[in-house]
Amino acid sequence: MPTRAIRIGTIFIGGGHPVTLQSMCATKTTDFLATAKMCQLLHEYGASLVRVAVDSPQDAAALAKIRDLTDANLSVDLQENYRLAEAVAPFVDKIRYNPGHLHHVEPNVPWTEKVRVLAEIATRYDCALRIGVNCGSLDPTKKRGVAELPPMVRSALEHADFLDSLQFHRFCVSLKGSDPLAVLDANRTFARLRPDVPLHLGVTEAGMPPEGILKSRLALEPLLAEGIGNTLRVSLTVPNTRKTEEVDAGREILRNVKNGTIISPDQWKPDRLNIVSCPSCARVENEKFVELAEAVREATRFAADWPIKIAVMGCRVNGPGETDDADFGLWCGPNRVNLKRGETLLGSFPYDEIVQELINAIRAAHKSGPRTNQSRARSKR
Ligand code: SF4
Repeated sequence: MPTRAIRIGTIFIGGGHPVTLQSMCATKTTDFLATAKMCQLLHEYGASLVRVAVDSPQDAAALAKIRDLTDANLSVDLQENYRLAEAVAPFVDKIRYNPGHLHHVEPNVPWTEKVRVLAEIATRYDCALRIGVNCGSLDPTKKRGVAELPPMVRSALEHADFLDSLQFHRFCVSLKGSDPLAVLDANRTFARLRPDVPLHLGVTEAGMPPEGILKSRLALEPLLAEGIGNTLRVSLTVPNTRKTEEVDAGREILRNVKNGTIISPDQWKPDRLNIVSCPSCARVENEKFVELAEAVREATRFAADWPIKIAVMGCRVNGPGETDDADFGLWCGPNRVNLKRGETLLGSFPYDEIVQELINAIRAAHKSGPRTNQSRARSKR
């Protein structure tokens, strides 16, 4: 049964419409000329919807100019700044909010009140909404799954039900994380419980190609083959000049599903070195971020068969939280990079020293050689 159809600018998602591809700008939003150029390039390349990050009134003002300079359908990502919705809604076709981030601002205002504001603004300005649940920034009240329901699914269901209760039905849902199998499971479960709601698919922090494409294929191809998913983004850590590769990777996934050549789950080796890195966006703190992610990959090849996860994140908005479940986490500041082991901050280092510091930390933690998954499990008990 098809989901509801929702209109986003000139396109529809769900309701039996073809699956669409999306991408996101990583230029500074206040650099409206560069951002408009990137939006137009991605639009002409085949992105049906292009996302832009907005964190400040200056970003919102730039968006008004961007709107005039591109034909792209625009989506805006507000992260923690739901109060900016009113300033951006006249210039965009969809607003994405993250249920987890709604708890960071104005903690005394109930989340239901914030969503009510967003739905009212979206209605007034003819916008759709996306409930963008992210495994790394979950609603703190939903950190545990219950009765076999993953926390991401609980959060998405709660928000979908609440929007419905407001008679606001023009929304889609995304359930993203960096673990492809968790994304697969969460989307399957949500689609079973709310088959009427269109789904935006994606693996977040998938990383650099080719690994980032592989992880996205592992989650998205089986889902699409089962008829789950109405629009998708392949998030890749690539320089701005290569952002169209996200659209190429999305096309490859759709082609594989159409041809019945979907990837086998055996290709996922969770017991090997796993580097997750964000795709960067306007919030990235230093333009060296993509180079840093590449340098981390090169420098850690010695640990290719070790069962460790390294997270490399571009900013302070998502960096501190989304590195928590990695063995080693790096998150960027303007001039220094913070290094964590698990949830513990080891220090903050200049860009030209951080990679060596990471290697030292990995070697110190694995003095007696790589631990097996079993010994990891034992040490966690
Ligand atoms: Fe953007 Fe920061 Fe997320 Fe990276 S971690 S995509 S820079 S918000």
